[in-house]
Amino acid sequence: MSKQNTLKIVTSFTILRDFAEKITHGLTHIEIKSIVPPEADPHSYQPTPLDSKTLFEADVIFINGLDFEKGIEKMIQSSGFKGNVYKATQHVKIRPDLVDPHTWHDVQNAILYVIELRDALCLEDSKNKDIYQKNAADLIKSLESLDLWIKNQFKKIPEQKRIVVTTHDAFWYFGKAYHIQFLSPVGISTEAEASAQNVAKLINFINEHNIKAVFVENLANSKLIEQIAAETKRSLQGTLYADSLSVSDGPAPDFALMIKHNVHTICKAFEQ
Ligand SMILES: [Zn+2]
Repeated sequence: MSKQNTLKIVTSFTILRDFAEKITHGLTHIEIKSIVPPEADPHSYQPTPLDSKTLFEADVIFINGLDFEKGIEKMIQSSGFKGNVYKATQHVKIRPDLVDPHTWHDVQNAILYVIELRDALCLEDSKNKDIYQKNAADLIKSLESLDLWIKNQFKKIPEQKRIVVTTHDAFWYFGKAYHIQFLSPVGISTEAEASAQNVAKLINFINEHNIKAVFVENLANSKLIEQIAAETKRSLQGTLYADSLSVSDGPAPDFALMIKHNVHTICKAFEQ
């Protein structure tokens, strides 16, 4: 812990910041910062010299792992940070075919994130472990009901209608958990390029299967998906939040609200 007895927690991106805030709720000696700000893209984020200082001064750092924030991981090493870096995905069962970092979209995985952060905080600041345990237990309980809520929302949607087209391949875990097929013209990273062949295949698929659920995402470049929507004469059905939360007065200021926003947006498109 730093000199003034403040525990400085630094997270790579906003979803981890949200969990850290909830687990430390009620404690006044905590300072939490996310390196990637709300509405910014963690895949392409370039850490600044100020970030290096933030990382160096941290007491504990939480990252997602699975190649999600490579630039930040490099900077942690070069910053001279001497504390512990905890990987939220440490105990998550990962996608077998690709290194896909977007595991939090399955709420059961988000619960594993909370457990990882809780255990790390209990180690780093053991005199407050009762508070971390109590807050984490409350958070896990609310995430368990969120998980159930999602399943209930999709219950009314027939299996063959459950196909979604979106900007990048960020929703595999969500799709697997809640039985929805996600298609996208580009791969795992927002920085990947779509091939003309993939785009043509996707356009045919949308037409053949009469898919209406076509979405943009809050940060990825939406040009290509707009072009696909125009070519298939579909109207875009809204914005999904994939990799970063919104600002506090936006539609996805915390994890649970982000998931709810995505589920409402997807259900509305399915129900047309
Ligand atoms: Zn992503």
